[in-house]
Amino acid sequence: MNAFAYVRPKDLDSALSLIRSTPKARFLAGGTNLLDLWKMGVEQPDTLIDINRLGLSQIAELPDGGGLSIGALARNSDVATHSLVTERYPVLSQALLAGASPQLRNAATVGGNLMQRTRCYYFYDPNFPCCNKRDPGSGCGALNGFNRIHAILGQSDQCIATNPSDMCVALAALEAKIHITGPSGERVIAIADFHRLPGEQPELDTTLRPDELITAVDLPAPADTKHNLYLKIRDRSSFAFALVSAAIVLGIGEGQITSARIALGGVAHKPWRVPEAEAMLQGVKPDRATFEKVADRLLQGAHAYRYNQYKIPLARNVVVRGLLAASA
Ligand code: SF4
Repeated sequence: MNAFAYVRPKDLDSALSLIRSTPKARFLAGGTNLLDLWKMGVEQPDTLIDINRLGLSQIAELPDGGGLSIGALARNSDVATHSLVTERYPVLSQALLAGASPQLRNAATVGGNLMQRTRCYYFYDPNFPCCNKRDPGSGCGALNGFNRIHAILGQSDQCIATNPSDMCVALAALEAKIHITGPSGERVIAIADFHRLPGEQPELDTTLRPDELITAVDLPAPADTKHNLYLKIRDRSSFAFALVSAAIVLGIGEGQITSARIALGGVAHKPWRVPEAEAMLQGVKPDRATFEKVADRLLQGAHAYRYNQYKIPLARNVVVRGLLAASA
């Protein structure tokens, strides 16, 4: 491990000023992803800016009545078990509890979870020379390599990695808003615009600028809490990333679907939503044949590689099974 400086700012302004003046610095919150990357030699910060004293760990109702504000430093385990989350946003609680291990959830923060790097064996191991995400222009080892966990949607010929977060899939279905602060003041990004597809710049996972910091995540007031579901398929029953997952948030009244949001995890560089597929559910009665058509629309354009062809039928089954369970 390289030598580094460790600083612990007392307020947001000091933290932002430090990151501006130290380009190779990294913010430290839970450290559950940063330390992995550092130990592997993918990250080599010269300064650690420990932001744990910034007081951003609230879980509180928004003054607008009904919504929820979650501080960027709230721990995953605290969010997952908070009564406002379990009662109003069960899909978020389920997704958080499906992720990692209890020890990691106790340390990991909401802001860190949003910033989790995409998972790919070739990215995490610098002994592999080809990775456009780690070393732009060096090629993509996964394209013709072992690509069992890789993307089937939204990928480019530069990168086929997937976002590994469970929480972010639920946030996508809940249409969360990410609050950010930086040198130009505060801004709010919809979760749909926070994570990027790889395109020609796979080294960028998000639209967050290097001198900005996430401060909070806002959730809109829930319309219906009974028909929320997070369904995750993985290689083993705990401490494993999703091969495919789905966060489903339905509104149902008088036997008909009144609103539908479906986000898929494990299939793309970001949580995957298709508004046209969700619109197919508007005003219809829950029914397997309709759900199969919705799954086909969600997966339209899917493209698999040598080792991840199983993901296309698996994702279709996850969508249909998830919709049947959520609407029951
Ligand atoms: Fe790197 Fe992305 Fe290719 Fe993996 S899929 S080797 S992260 S460029």
